[in-house]
Amino acid sequence: MSPRPQDFVALYARLAMPVTDEDCGLRCGPYNEGGVPFCCDPRHAIPTAYQEEWAYLQAHTDLWRLWEDDDPEEIRRLWEEIPRYQVPIVCRGVVHCQREFRSLVCRAFPFFPYISRQNELLGLTYYWQYEDRCWVISHLGRVRPDFRQAMLDVYRTLFAWYPQERETFRHQSTMMRRVFGRRHREIPLLHRDGFMYLLHPRTEALRPVDPSSLPKHGVYALAAMLPFEDE
Ligand code: SF4
Repeated sequence: MSPRPQDFVALYARLAMPVTDEDCGLRCGPYNEGGVPFCCDPRHAIPTAYQEEWAYLQAHTDLWRLWEDDDPEEIRRLWEEIPRYQVPIVCRGVVHCQREFRSLVCRAFPFFPYISRQNELLGLTYYWQYEDRCWVISHLGRVRPDFRQAMLDVYRTLFAWYPQERETFRHQSTMMRRVFGRRHREIPLLHRDGFMYLLHPRTEALRPVDPSSLPKHGVYALAAMLPFEDE
């Protein structure tokens, strides 16, 4: 079943809450040029929108435009990477953000739905490439439980609308198992049951974990060694 542009209104309403109670952009922004949160900076992350979502956004806001680049090779590379049912977009900048018109990809960052080898949606994990920059990844215990449930609900709907999207995240989960396997690391999983686990990349065995015991990364690992971590 293909969605209509207005069907995205319900998904936006379902995933309207922030990822954490604190404004995580204020936590990571100071570490990026210009104080811009990393996921709002196209030098670090280029969001995408589903084709019908893009039609909805174009009709209701001037916040977004299609992504462009001076380098034809870069344009070709990115369009090849993105599924046909999505388009790359950029916003007018963090100071112009209209929260009600944030794309689903913006709302979900830094997480993606983890699909097991048995093709089961187990929960959420994160884009590990951002471990060094994203404050949330170093503070998984701060993720709001209602965000976790809402994101899973939204992706169940998206998988029904775009069956290929489930395959995309199945592949992404496979890639994460490979990368973490090579690094002899377990995968942090915000399970759909509401608890947090470490998942073994080869067997997918789950080990309950206290999120506050998970390692911090990048500058957040350094900050954690200071007497007042949040200063
Ligand atoms: S999700 Fe991560 S990168 Fe984006 S604003 Fe929050 S801490 Fe920064």
